[in-house]
Amino acid sequence: MNTLDWSDHDFATAAVRAGHQRSNEGENAEAIFTTSSFVFDSAAEAAARFQNNAPGNVYSRFTNPTVRAFEQRLAALEGGESCIATASGMAAIMSTCVALLAPGEHVVASSGLFGSTSQFFKKYLTRIGNPVSFAQIDSIDDWAARITPQTRMLFVETPSNPLTQLADITALAALANESNALLVVDNCFCSPVLQRPLELGAHLVIHSATKFIDGQGRCVGGAVVGDKKRVGEDILGFLRTAGPTMSPFNAWVFLKGLETLELRMQRHCESALELARWLDQHDAVSKVYYPGLQSHPQHALCREQQSGFGGIVSFEVAGGTRERAWQIIDNTKMLSVTANLGDAKSTITHPATTTHGRLTDQDRADAGIGQGLLRIGVGLESVADIKADLDRGFSV
Ligand SMILES: *Cc1c(COP(=O)(O)O)cnc(C)c1O
Repeated sequence: MNTLDWSDHDFATAAVRAGHQRSNEGENAEAIFTTSSFVFDSAAEAAARFQNNAPGNVYSRFTNPTVRAFEQRLAALEGGESCIATASGMAAIMSTCVALLAPGEHVVASSGLFGSTSQFFKKYLTRIGNPVSFAQIDSIDDWAARITPQTRMLFVETPSNPLTQLADITALAALANESNALLVVDNCFCSPVLQRPLELGAHLVIHSATKFIDGQGRCVGGAVVGDKKRVGEDILGFLRTAGPTMSPFNAWVFLKGLETLELRMQRHCESALELARWLDQHDAVSKVYYPGLQSHPQHALCREQQSGFGGIVSFEVAGGTRERAWQIIDNTKMLSVTANLGDAKSTITHPATTTHGRLTDQDRADAGIGQGLLRIGVGLESVADIKADLDRGFSV
């Protein structure tokens, strides 16, 4: 059973079964191997395993059976050869950049990235010698204009957070190939259920497993998926040395999360579409950002590139002020006021003062994140109750 090729199976099957290597105890649910190190049969075997000359576990900073099960399952779902799990989504982004970029190599990234990704690029990656330029996510001409002879990586988050702008992954992959650069896609908002960037030509996929993969807001974790050389050798080599590793317990939680991911994404998408249509008609709202609306400028691209519109809806409150946005948040009673998303519990966030609060006013304005913007991570509650709670917020 363990040697089945999961690419021959449907997504739902791989999500439940891929990567599970049953131990001699015959457990049906995956075991959690909470051990820091592993015992060798002999000194010679220890030496061989340390030098990668014999298969088997060594030390949980870079080899752990529970973490490996999660990596193999996610690799199967994204259609990648190799996956490396990391301590967080940010650790996945950091490991990818540090492991794959030589000093002086340049990155072009989409503007309107997740706040910490943007900070990491501007404050730290640049400091260790990799300049980063930012392109308008939806303009392939702008991406092309920012490429220099030193460019080795294009980094994109699509749909973007919180404004749900899309990049055309196929077009960006072609541009990356022409430029001898890698296309890295942060697939956190879609998960492999809605979008498989490797099939569209991307070289690497990044995940914050913290979000939809966990799905119940319990653990922080991340992953990189791609080819064996870059992920299974170069990024694994960095992880082995530098240590931003996923814990076995968290890997187990994420394994369980993957089993229900497809079912949950269907519900997130259905409820988000209904909520977006309702907000679009609401007097208390001046603009809605959701790719499932016909009025979204990239609705057609979304239909081509994704198999669902996603679970994140953002909107501008009428009046557009921070005071009004905060008043609405403070008058809801059920929605969780938190920066997380992809949770069973719906969340409400004021990006300008939380997730994107560390950006300069200019950077925030460039990213289009106003003081009147609110973001809903649509959860699994009944959508009628989510609307009722927002109406409580609007009605003051
Ligand atoms: C949350 C998030 C990250 C960072 O992941 P962590 O697990 O919080 O480190 C990266 N990208 C996107 C799009 C995110 O939403």
